[in-house]
This record gives sequence, C-alpha cells and structure tokens, in this order.
Amino acid sequence: MVSSGLPPSNATSDTHNNDDALVLSDDPLHPANHICELCYKFYGHGWVTGTGGGISIKRDNHVYIAPSGVQKELMKPTDMFVMDYHTREYLRRPQVFKPSACTPLFMAAFTKRGASCCIHTHSQWAVLVTLICEAGLQDSGKDVFALKEIEQIKGISRGGTGSTEIAEGGRKLGNLGYFDTLKIPIIENTAHEEDLKDTLEKAIEEWPETCAVLVRRHGVYVWGKDVTQAKTQCESLDYIFQLAVEMHKLGLKWV
Ligand SMILES: [Zn+2]
Repeated sequence: MVSSGLPPSNATSDTHNNDDALVLSDDPLHPANHICELCYKFYGHGWVTGTGGGISIKRDNHVYIAPSGVQKELMKPTDMFVMDYHTREYLRRPQVFKPSACTPLFMAAFTKRGASCCIHTHSQWAVLVTLICEAGLQDSGKDVFALKEIEQIKGISRGGTGSTEIAEGGRKLGNLGYFDTLKIPIIENTAHEEDLKDTLEKAIEEWPETCAVLVRRHGVYVWGKDVTQAKTQCESLDYIFQLAVEMHKLGLKWV
C-alpha cells in the first residue's frame, strides 16, 4: 500500500485534504457516481453482500476504488479512494476507511489486459462452480471451469477486452461463438485477499483468452475495456455459473 503523503484529516471522509474535486460531479457516469450506482445494483444480485466484493474503474490516469469493509449498497462518492495509475500513489484517501484489499488485483487487470473496469463478486454461483470443480465432479478438471454450447457464452469477449466490432451476421468479432468452449481458470484462495495477486497475475498471463479468474471458495474477478463490457461479462458469467450449478444438479455435463 502506498501512502498519499497527505497529512491525516480530521477523521471525516470529505475534508479538503482529500480533494473532493476528484469525486464530486453531476455526471452520473463519473466513476465515483458510477461505482456507487453499480454497487447498489450488485448488492441486489447478491454479488457484494456483507461488504464483500468490489469494483474499480480507471479513467485516464485515475483509478477509482470502493473502500474496504463498507456496506456496498450505501456508499457515497466521497467514500471513494483515487489512485494515480502510474505512480500507484493515493490522490484521495478517506481517513475513516481502509483501502480495498482488492486494489492490486484490479490493477493486474488494468495493467495486463488494458482493462478500464474490474468487478469482484462473492456470487454464490461462482463459489459453487469452484466447489464442483474441486470435487472433480465435472470433466473440466479441478482448476478450470468449462462450458460449451450455451447461447450466453456469446456475451464473453476473448481476453475480456476483445473487439466489439460486428461481423457479418451480427456476431461480435472479439467474442466467443456458440461452438467455442468457455474456459475460466480457478486459483486457490488465500487468507488475505491481497495475497491472491501473484496467482491471479499468473492466471491472467497463462490464459490469454479469459475475461475472468475464479477464486476457489471465494468468488470471481471479471474485467472489461469499459464499464459496459465488464458489467455485461459479469452478468453473463453469473448467468452461466448459475446455469452450470443447476445443470450439475440435474446430472448434466458442462462439456
Ligand atoms: Zn473477495
């Protein structure tokens, strides 16, 4: 964690020391506003229950990150941390909150995939598919989730930030096709979230086509070149994970 070098504030999250200009905007798509709105929605999906999960948006040289340990559906723009993308120093650091332990993991998606948005959920469906794989109950193997011939995999781009150019027939050029097999690597959980950094980075490097990394008994990290793509992929994957759990219960194979 890198200190901003700013003097400690008087224990409020919105003193001028914390440069509110970075987070106050009338634009609903400003990252500080957008993160609050998305977390409110994601809470409804069960993705960020009990302060778990998180989201980060990179805009130009600024990385906006929701703080750790806060009720994600009740966040305010002034709760946001803002980091300089290049120096990794906090430009804004609310003193009443802890920086998110997910920060180095979000940064991995930004630096290694050119992503501008990364979403981390504790979705029960994501956790369940990692347990089914761990128990060796499907043919995809212990360390990979795989599924094929399900329409929704067309919502997934190659590498997570693939081209959105439309091919003849209406298919997105950079996306998986119906007959492709979706594969998402699974890494083992660690006692502390930030300790996932090395294995997550390794998985991103070893799986150039993946848009996400599952964390066993924990959840999933999903990224996209922008918020729309990250959200679409996160929703598509959650649909797929839920479907896969139900398929498993019915004795159906994923691949
Ligand atoms: Zn987590």
